[in-house]
Amino acid sequence: MSGCGEDFLMKTGYQHKESLRDQRSVYIDGGLVPDVTVHPAFRQSIDTVCSLYDLAAKPENHALMRCENERGVSINRIWQLPRSHADLVERRRGLEFWSEQHAGFFGRSPDHVASCIAGMYMGLDVFEAADRERARALADFYQHASETDLYLTYVIINPQGELPGAGTAPSHRRIAASIVDHGPEGIVIDGAKMLASGGVMANEVLVTCIQPLGPDEDALAFSAVVPMNAKGLRILSRKSYEEHAGSIFDSPMASRFDENDSVLLFENVTVPWDRVFVFKDRDLCMKQFFATPAHVYQNYQAMIRLKTKLTFLVGLARKITQINGTERFPQVREILGQLAADVGMLDAMVAGMEAKGSLYGEYFIPDHHSLYAAQALTQKLYPRFIEQLRNLAGGGVIMLPSCVEDMENPEMMEWISRTQASPIVDAKTRVKFFKLVWDCIGSEFASRHTQYEMFYAGASFVPRNHSFRTFGWDNALGQVDRMMAEY
Ligand SMILES: Cc1cc2nc3c(=O)[nH]c(=O)nc-3n(C[C@H](O)[C@H](O)[C@H](O)COP(=O)(O)OP(=O)(O)OC[C@H]3O[C@@H](n4cnc5c(N)ncnc54)[C@H](O)[C@@H]3O)c2cc1C
Repeated sequence: MSGCGEDFLMKTGYQHKESLRDQRSVYIDGGLVPDVTVHPAFRQSIDTVCSLYDLAAKPENHALMRCENERGVSINRIWQLPRSHADLVERRRGLEFWSEQHAGFFGRSPDHVASCIAGMYMGLDVFEAADRERARALADFYQHASETDLYLTYVIINPQGELPGAGTAPSHRRIAASIVDHGPEGIVIDGAKMLASGGVMANEVLVTCIQPLGPDEDALAFSAVVPMNAKGLRILSRKSYEEHAGSIFDSPMASRFDENDSVLLFENVTVPWDRVFVFKDRDLCMKQFFATPAHVYQNYQAMIRLKTKLTFLVGLARKITQINGTERFPQVREILGQLAADVGMLDAMVAGMEAKGSLYGEYFIPDHHSLYAAQALTQKLYPRFIEQLRNLAGGGVIMLPSCVEDMENPEMMEWISRTQASPIVDAKTRVKFFKLVWDCIGSEFASRHTQYEMFYAGASFVPRNHSFRTFGWDNALGQVDRMMAEY
């Protein structure tokens, strides 16, 4: 799987940008957006996504970012189906390279849902056992999406307020997207889903449900792919941090890496059968994630991304102490040592997931429990990590000029030079650095990231339950029983 076909035209950033000019219905700040690629709420973050495709297309990055599929077509590694530990590691290097372009701040970069769909395809036997037609649709879609390098996001959670059993209460209008009709054309879905990260800049969305459903909720038990410009699909954007960021100097992260999150509202959207993978089947809705490698693959990608992000943040932490001259204090080095240990733990856990991986049919899968352990631990770790950076930074992230224009005024620049001191950098570099730190740990953009890392994999009981479900309890309990049998 590691060869690179030279004859395939790789998707470029330009092509991705063009593909977003498709009359999608994105709403923000009280109105409809005519073209997301030029709108100040989204354009720079879309450029970031486009730069990922440009990098993958560069000939010098082919070995890192491309591989051949079963038909000999050169595809982006994000769609790779690893067959060995070596394949998995090669694919991870490609994912790391991409994540370093945004310091891990794009949670729903194109490799996330590509990992999920690739994982579903690896578990095609699970779909075939339930419904051969739907399995064919999934197989064809994997082929199409991987060979055209589609950018997909997903909505797999019902909006808060969709209460279990709500479908049976006559007074309660169902909020969550559900199947309201079906016929020869396909299925018709109506209702909402939270929360499409990357939705405004993706090509299509996987719409499904990862939450357990009750017997009266078959209409919610579907899995389908919908283009972002589908008739009847409204993309309701949250506040754009990019739009309010000011200059890149003032908000280097929010201005370029605001992947956006949107509520999706489906108003009688027709989805053709060749894009429907699960139809009113609660059992298959769960199995598509947990009986196939899908859930493991999508979250393994998330851990690779987070490893990059924590490495970047620990770099910021060290630089704070260098610029402020506090690095020499033993207490400060102890904090840095703890942060470095946290990053080292995740690094080792990703390597562990790979080393303890196993074959699922012909495909190589990262170890389930190592992955869920990492998720349960890092969900708690992230807010603590950020708190330690705040602790190291003190007021440095606040005692800053209001914006870059202050520094263009010679008189003000002189005052800034007198007040922004550091043993190792000039005043302008100090300001630039602390504005970067604030945008990673304290700005509204940064705060959304804390919420993201705490919730993207579900509330805290979700990864803990997966850890409980997949741990080797026989070994642990066996040790206890053997100990007790000795006396
Ligand atoms: C920034 C961000 C981006 C996101 N992007 C996406 C995306 O791209 N695609 C997508 O599908 N989803 C996305 N999500 C949604 C995410 O998957 C959900 O937030 C997550 O699954 C938790 O669901 P919830 O928000 O409904 O929280 P809830 O389930 O309402 O949980 C909130 C809190 O309520 C309490 N609680 C709820 N239920 C229980 C229970 N059974 N037992 C005990 N306590 C309970 C807990 O204190 C819990 O922390 C995103 C979320 C965020 C914050």
